[in-house]
Amino acid sequence: MNIPFYDLKRQHQDYAAELQAKANEVIQSGWFVRGPYVEAFEKDFSAYLGAENVVGVGNGLDALTLIFRAYKEMGKLEEGDEVIVPANTYIASVLAISECGLVPVLVEPDIETYNIDVLKVKENINSKTKAILTVNLYGLMSDVEALQFICKERNLLLIEDNAQATGARLGKQSAGTFGDAAGFSFYPTKNLGCLGDGGAVVTDDDALAAVVRALANYGSEKKYVNLYKGVNSRLDEMQAALLSVKLNYLDSENERRRAIAERYWERIDNPYVVLPVDEFAENHVWHLFVVRVPERERFIQYLSDNGIGTQVHYPTPIYQHPAYREMAMLEKPLTEKICAEVVSLPLAPYLSDDEVDYVIDVVNAF
Ligand SMILES: *Cc1c(COP(=O)(O)O)cnc(C)c1O
Repeated sequence: MNIPFYDLKRQHQDYAAELQAKANEVIQSGWFVRGPYVEAFEKDFSAYLGAENVVGVGNGLDALTLIFRAYKEMGKLEEGDEVIVPANTYIASVLAISECGLVPVLVEPDIETYNIDVLKVKENINSKTKAILTVNLYGLMSDVEALQFICKERNLLLIEDNAQATGARLGKQSAGTFGDAAGFSFYPTKNLGCLGDGGAVVTDDDALAAVVRALANYGSEKKYVNLYKGVNSRLDEMQAALLSVKLNYLDSENERRRAIAERYWERIDNPYVVLPVDEFAENHVWHLFVVRVPERERFIQYLSDNGIGTQVHYPTPIYQHPAYREMAMLEKPLTEKICAEVVSLPLAPYLSDDEVDYVIDVVNAF
């Protein structure tokens, strides 16, 4: 069998005709930026999430960056303020902070959930701390309720990087609605992916939403009146129209992801392979199924020899990248262990049980 890590052609096979019809509608409309499809998607998505405002933007990194920029314009953050963020996240979370002249404070995760460790968050709060950027990593919600409590008590902003957990819920409440604002990504491989780049800012704060919307449109609310030195970062009509189609399938696709994860979890029993914790599976949409294997390189080669694609999320701690050489002195043993040992198995809604069982057999034979 040949199972690539991810296959975006197969991802869309069940509703390709519907996407094509929608794309034709947009082409026929002759209107591609700031129009009815974006408006409709923003409305649908805010209803889906139970959030007051959705602002479509160019991508997930911009969504996060625009939240911080908007808080600066509103006087709630200023240059040099510290923002606590998990050390093992994708680099985009940290790029958004530093792009706005804020100082990222990297905090170790919990080795079981891979999400930010709330006790270590507390240890890192000082008078310069103004916000926490929590990341719902791999599709699992972080401990948002504990973080809400800390932020309320210490008067900090809570922002969620929900790029990887679209559709996750804690009880009935959606990931991305627990903080003051959240950034979403619709990069093609995300749980709700468009067919290009896209993202959204989600917030119940009308004032914040208005500033983000203006910033993303050259800093302008009204044509040729510029309130801010903004950027151009907008979700376009084509992507919004396709996202409205795909939003209808998100919950069933996440259900299928859950079923596959459960199958992996129940049937992989190789002592050399550390599985993700199952305890919080209810709050998980399995963007990635990440295992830890001390002999990772040999494991990856072995799976590849057996036709199975894998990826590593992520191989290098942020502070070891040349881009962040000013943090090169940091030492985060858990983050370093995670970076050295994690590997993601194929997990996509279109995988058949036979394919999943094949992956299980190969992993167990390692
Ligand atoms: C994908 C991702 C982003 C960035 O989203 P883009 O749309 O690719 O810019 C940010 N944070 C995390 C955790 C991500 O996985």
